[in-house]
Amino acid sequence: MYITVIGTGYVGLVTAGCLASKGHHVTCLDHDPEKINLLQRGAVPFYEPGLQEIVEDSISQERIVFTSLYEEAMAKSDVIFIAVGTPLSEQGELNLSSLFQVSEQLSPFLNRHQVVVIKSTVPVGTARKISTFIQNIAPHSKFEAVSNPEFLRAGSAVNDFMHSDRIVLGSEGAHSRKVMRQLYEPWVNEGTPLIETTPESAEIIKQASNAFLATKLSFINELSDFCEVTGANLQDVTEGLKKDPRIGADYLSPGPGFGGSCLHKDSSSLVSSGLNYGLDMSVIKSVVLSNQKRKKSLAEKVVSYCGGRVEGKKIAILGLAFKERTDDTRESPSLDLISGLQALGANLIVHDPFVSERSQSLFLNIKFSKDVYEALNSADAMVLMTACSQFQTLNFFF
Ligand code: NAD
Repeated sequence: MYITVIGTGYVGLVTAGCLASKGHHVTCLDHDPEKINLLQRGAVPFYEPGLQEIVEDSISQERIVFTSLYEEAMAKSDVIFIAVGTPLSEQGELNLSSLFQVSEQLSPFLNRHQVVVIKSTVPVGTARKISTFIQNIAPHSKFEAVSNPEFLRAGSAVNDFMHSDRIVLGSEGAHSRKVMRQLYEPWVNEGTPLIETTPESAEIIKQASNAFLATKLSFINELSDFCEVTGANLQDVTEGLKKDPRIGADYLSPGPGFGGSCLHKDSSSLVSSGLNYGLDMSVIKSVVLSNQKRKKSLAEKVVSYCGGRVEGKKIAILGLAFKERTDDTRESPSLDLISGLQALGANLIVHDPFVSERSQSLFLNIKFSKDVYEALNSADAMVLMTACSQFQTLNFFF
């Protein structure tokens, strides 16, 4: 098929690369000229394991191209994926301006029976709104809008896309169902469940999945504090919990609070969607608040371990991204910790093997070290922020 992917971030580029690797012709569009420039030269602008190789391979097989022009991107497309960012606004709702902007820009080029796929994570009702929006701009176009949310995780995105645990398709038109089934046939043939539903249910499945994971993490974080004050061993407690199949074994490791672009954003968006329908989603609301509190309390914890003062002390922070194997620093708990300790006069040095020098240069007030031992040398304290495997085998007697 001829596929257009709009937005070449973590989701868009992974979708594009993986579909190209299955033999489709993919054209990627982004409004960021620097990104398109890099991609045209075969360079992936962020770190995601396996993505550079898949993009290089697709370029050499002439299955993927990059452009900033809609007329080029839409020239032959059967399916258009929209994977632009939907960040959280200050009011706690998702900002859908890029999604609507892109929909407006692609509308004049809808000249055949095409499928517009919303890959971005959106609040319930958005796919239907986009459909009406495009229909109003291009009343003679024959297109169907579908919701096909993405469940990949930063750090294992290519593998997650290629071996999805489910494909969710929210669509009501016969043409779009047929086309999307055909597109995902290789996955379904390998046993991936295809959940076909309405666009509304698909949109809720995505946000509910993230809110549920956020709930599990906040639950185990709270329990870890409880074990700490009672003298219980959290690892033993989680072993006991994990054996219950109703609870499950994943997402039961405590940490400094969840970060990343999705869990906080989607949980907050569900809460505000609930309010729009007159519902107080108190469980999810408290998960969001509990996580914010945890991230804010990190600096106090370090101060207490340092004997009540951190002024002038050298503190090494290992991990800037929100987890290991990614350079994504969005909503990272490290950023809360760093600003908290900087405000108290600590002398910080940060090391993260996955955050490139290009990304580091965006943090003007943070001092980085390329070498973990240089960061640790003569430090008064070390704060371990990600489960990076390199940090688990450090030699403290260097
Ligand atoms: P991202 O910020 O990495 O990428 C978004 C891309 O869209 C950027 O390259 C940006 O330049 C481009 N863009 C923005 N506005 C545009 C416009 N008007 N025209 C053309 N291009 C435009 O975001 P992401 O992490 O890939 O997330 C995209 C969506 O997927 C979000 O809704 C997110 O919630 C969802 N999602 C993300 C993940 C994840 O792990 N990152 C997982 C599942 C779903």
